[in-house]
Amino acid sequence: MQYAKPLAALVAEFEKLPGIGPKSAQRLAFHILRIPEDEARKLSDAIINAKENIGQCSVCFNYTDKDRCEVCSDPRRDGSLLCVVSEPRDVAAMEKTNEFRGVYHVLGGVISPIDGVGPESLRLNELENRIRQGEIREVILATNPTIEGDTTAMYVAKALRPFGVKVTRIAHGMPVGGDMDYADQATLIQALQWRREM
Ligand SMILES: [Zn+2]
Repeated sequence: MQYAKPLAALVAEFEKLPGIGPKSAQRLAFHILRIPEDEARKLSDAIINAKENIGQCSVCFNYTDKDRCEVCSDPRRDGSLLCVVSEPRDVAAMEKTNEFRGVYHVLGGVISPIDGVGPESLRLNELENRIRQGEIREVILATNPTIEGDTTAMYVAKALRPFGVKVTRIAHGMPVGGDMDYADQATLIQALQWRREM
């Protein structure tokens, strides 16, 4: 069956989203047609609003609508403990545990030769500059326990060696090949508590 053009366009847009197959895309599109127009407008406004107003924290590169994110502007956070993650969504996963009281650094990806991503495209210089400022005592590498995540952690650990700062890696509890984002909170808390020095 052929959809009317505007409906087909909506289905096609939903299909581009991660984790949405053709069936789900169809269900979402039909749902949008069923809801009141102001509800649909709230959704489209929220998308545009987020795109226009969310940027990167000037300190840690987490998502924020201000110059500094919630974490970096909170004086109760421990600025001597720095957790390195690959993506802003990993900050969200870590924050959900309510276990970590330090601050973050978002690398902006992982080293992946297959995808043409080398260390130069990560925010390593920015990380080194933060460590040079002298407040940081420990760097916790919390990249995913995948080949790319491990490679990245090893690369960062090596790059930080000259600084003489303690470098640890979250380890146990995370399923091999897993994704920080999908780890349940208890698993992530354990991974953080059982971190080992690199
Ligand atoms: Zn920040």
